[in-house]
Amino acid sequence: MPKPRKLDRSRRSSRASSFQKLAAGLAETGRAFYGRGWVLGTSGNFSAAVSREPLRLAIPPSGADKGALGARQFLEIDHNGKVLRGTGSPSAEALLHLTLARVRGAGAVLHTHSVWSTLLSEAFAVQGGLGITGYEMLKGLDGVSTHEHREWLPILENSQDMRELAGPVAAALALHPHAHGFLLRGHGLYTWGRDLAEARRHVEILEFLLEVFGRIHAAGQEVARTTPAHTP
Ligand SMILES: [Zn+2]
Repeated sequence: MPKPRKLDRSRRSSRASSFQKLAAGLAETGRAFYGRGWVLGTSGNFSAAVSREPLRLAIPPSGADKGALGARQFLEIDHNGKVLRGTGSPSAEALLHLTLARVRGAGAVLHTHSVWSTLLSEAFAVQGGLGITGYEMLKGLDGVSTHEHREWLPILENSQDMRELAGPVAAALALHPHAHGFLLRGHGLYTWGRDLAEARRHVEILEFLLEVFGRIHAAGQEVARTTPAHTP
């Protein structure tokens, strides 16, 4: 029957063009984040949901240089991480992206390996997270309308086995339903958004806050180190 075939073709071509659009947006995000030093040396990862039912993500292949990504390099994967479009295989971290898309309904997931997220995730690991409050920039996070908001970023132990990590990540998200991101110890930041624009805003806000928090913490340590214990 000619009509349904035409409909299928147009559905396929609009799906392909939305995949290309998302891939181009993610590639541009990679270049911008590389310029900020957040995804050096092929680190970090980005994904966006091409569809929800069934769940399909656009994601770069493993080992790609995030500062030199082209839209054509991107893969489309299904809910199990199986490649449906493109050449290569996704990084093992794709499992965490799928978990966030499923558990948080994220339209995009962005992961950075910045200096501040690496340092602070190590320094505060024993507390299980870090709380940031009192800054105007907190209002850039979805649903936050005051600097008095306290953003708790859970810190999870790092692992090379992403299947092992997916469970604790899902548990931390359930325990902290209002968290906008989390840190992997000595590794980096994960955040997400309803779409790529919101996820990018969350990276910019959280990276800013982590740097401010880290610099104040470091300054406090320095004051404590250089102030005599018994000042007359
Ligand atoms: Zn990573």
